[in-house]
Amino acid sequence: MSKIVQKYGGSSVGDVEKIKAVAEKIIKEKKTGNDVVVIVSAMGKTTDSLFSLARQINSMPPRRELDLLLSTGEIVSVALLCMAIENSGYKAIGLPGFLAGIYTDTVHTRAKIKKIDPKKILYELANDKIVIIAGFQGISAEESITTLGRGGSDLTAIAIAGAINADRCEIYTDVEGVFTTDPRIVPEAKIISEISYEEMLEMASAGAKVMQARAVEIAQKYKIPFMVKSTFSERGGTMVKEMTLEEGAVVTSVTLDEHQAKITFFNVPDKPGIAAQIFGELGKENINVDIIVQNVSKQDHTDLSFTVASSDMEHALEISKRQGEELKAANVICDDNICKITIIGLGMANHPGVAARMFKVLAEEGINIEMISTSEIRVSCVIRKNQGKKALKSIHNEFFK
Ligand code: ASP
Ligand code: MG
Repeated sequence: MSKIVQKYGGSSVGDVEKIKAVAEKIIKEKKTGNDVVVIVSAMGKTTDSLFSLARQINSMPPRRELDLLLSTGEIVSVALLCMAIENSGYKAIGLPGFLAGIYTDTVHTRAKIKKIDPKKILYELANDKIVIIAGFQGISAEESITTLGRGGSDLTAIAIAGAINADRCEIYTDVEGVFTTDPRIVPEAKIISEISYEEMLEMASAGAKVMQARAVEIAQKYKIPFMVKSTFSERGGTMVKEMTLEEGAVVTSVTLDEHQAKITFFNVPDKPGIAAQIFGELGKENINVDIIVQNVSKQDHTDLSFTVASSDMEHALEISKRQGEELKAANVICDDNICKITIIGLGMANHPGVAARMFKVLAEEGINIEMISTSEIRVSCVIRKNQGKKALKSIHNEFFK
């Protein structure tokens, strides 16, 4: 007998019919004789609606009560799913995070899991029950309900799979797996059958929205392989696991992030401490800086550009303008007509010339590269936003035709 963890996302339980279909899927697994633990997200866009309700009452809702409110979305799904399973004659028990032994720190709305005590889960499995757990939540040492950040049900699923030493962990969603690029833009995109944790993490930070990045980090840290598959189709499926550089493809995926903005400091003094000051201030305000480019210095002065997420642009610009005045920069400007295109591949680390192939494709399309950044397994280029989709198609064609 195996222990199976399945996670169903919000779109998989978006309405009553879908909940019934998911219940049947769960029962099918149970019928094979396995122990089944299910993690479920809030129905459809429930979490967004709860956020908006809170803001209509209070524009700065107290975080503890915001978490209390947000946690209810997942609990609704759990209760309904249990009812659907019982309707088909199987025994299920629903557990909100705090009853499932999920202990977190006290950072409301983005708590980290500190410990899982699977006693209750294992006890109910031993009683032959299907255990349904609310994703995205836990309880803190202050005995408050906490939530794990957007997309946090993924994290719950991975952490539970680790805690009960599951034989299989399956993440069910509305797509057939992880694609080589966004199939809405490039219909030729293919499903990736196997991918490493590192590549999944690079994909998340390159703007692909497959899974919560924290969940992948935890899977990598504790070596918990998992499968991403569709709730609605038997096709596809992507296994995410540990892989060696030799096993990795040179390019596994190409991603486009259209939610980026660039900030440029003109003519700041070129001396020690300047970057430390600028990025120190941004860091203090929790702004993530992505690509950084500094020019060659002229008369002891230089230009400095970096990118941030569009959602952080205004805040980052305000901080940067203040810094610009202090440092006597000639000017500080921002530009959100940019996008970032990234190729990712574990095998890249062993194969020279991959970046050059990407640059050549861009050159042939007459697309100018404004910034470049690389890691062992990734190359990113910042280009004009209106050229992003064209670049994505051509680069995908180069590596996957
Ligand atoms: N319901 C939460 C969200 O929308 C958590 C999740 O779906 O994973 O972010
Ligand atoms: Mg999700």
